[in-house]
Amino acid sequence: MKVPLFDLKLQYKALKPEIDKAIEGVFEHTQFIMGPEVKLLEAKLAEYCNTKYAVGVSSGTDALIIALHALGIKPGDEVIVPTFSFFASAGVVARLGATPVFVDIDERTFNINANQIEQKITPRTKAIMPVHLYGQAAWMDKIMELSKQYNLFVVEDAAQAIGARYRDRMAGSFGHISGFSCFPTKNLGAFGDAGFITTDKDEYIEILRKLRLHGAQPKYHHALVGYNARLDTIQAAILLVKLNYLNEWHEARRRKAEIYDRELSGISGLRTPFVYEHNYHIYHQYTLIVENRQGLAARLKENEIGFETYYPVPLHLQECFKDLHYKEGDLPVAERLAKSVISLPIYPELPESHQAFVIDTIKGFYNRR
Ligand SMILES: *Cc1c(COP(=O)(O)O)cnc(C)c1O
Repeated sequence: MKVPLFDLKLQYKALKPEIDKAIEGVFEHTQFIMGPEVKLLEAKLAEYCNTKYAVGVSSGTDALIIALHALGIKPGDEVIVPTFSFFASAGVVARLGATPVFVDIDERTFNINANQIEQKITPRTKAIMPVHLYGQAAWMDKIMELSKQYNLFVVEDAAQAIGARYRDRMAGSFGHISGFSCFPTKNLGAFGDAGFITTDKDEYIEILRKLRLHGAQPKYHHALVGYNARLDTIQAAILLVKLNYLNEWHEARRRKAEIYDRELSGISGLRTPFVYEHNYHIYHQYTLIVENRQGLAARLKENEIGFETYYPVPLHLQECFKDLHYKEGDLPVAERLAKSVISLPIYPELPESHQAFVIDTIKGFYNRR
């Protein structure tokens, strides 16, 4: 049996009539740039995320860079970022000429260790960027408290966390501005690159909208230099259809996670994900910490089971950041986990037989049935 890490075809098959109709609608009205679906989607996303505003953009990466730019992050500034994340979390800081300051993670949740943030704050620190990794919210109480105490912006990287909740509040509704990704494999995935920004604050909405449109306001008048970072109308039309199913899909992922938890917990040699009771985890990824990852990976490969390592190299050890002079041993939890995490197939349509085969194969590897 071949078990891919994810299979986007199953979801398309189920929604084909609706999605094809939505796309055809855009073909017919031909407003490919900033068409009516973009505005409609923004209203629905703001409602979904329980924020005042949502702004559609071309990717999660663009969402984050525009968020930081809108807050005035510039060369010389420092932004606190967890070292264990997708590259974009730090890349956007560097692209604005600012300096990412890396913090280690909490071994249990994989999220930034908020107890270690304070010691990294300097007079140059302008913002904290928590990442809600794998779909579980970071420790937002502590982060918002630090933000108030030190007068720092909070930009949530909610790329993996649309619909995740922290104490009944939506991820992406805590910080000054938040960025989301609709990369095809994210929980709300487009048919290409897409993303959006949320904020509750009136003072940022105008600059956010301007920055995605070359900084123009009105058209052809540029008080600032922005980006070409619009959300495609076709992508918006697709996302409008999919958004209706998102909560169902989260629930389906959570049921699959529960099965993995039940079947795999207690096996010596691996640890299933830890979830705080106050968190609603949307399981963008289901990630184990394992002994002998290389061996397990080989066994999964042998059995044609898809898996991935998110992420094999912590950001502070990336070659592009060598001038920041971090070295091995600086952020030991992330360094250790980078060598021992492995993510398993989890998506709403994951067939039962596939999941059972993944579980059997892992149990077999760790010698327990
Ligand atoms: C996916 C992702 C991004 C970037 O989103 P894109 O839409 O791929 O640009 C940023 N941060 C995290 C944590 C992500 O998972």
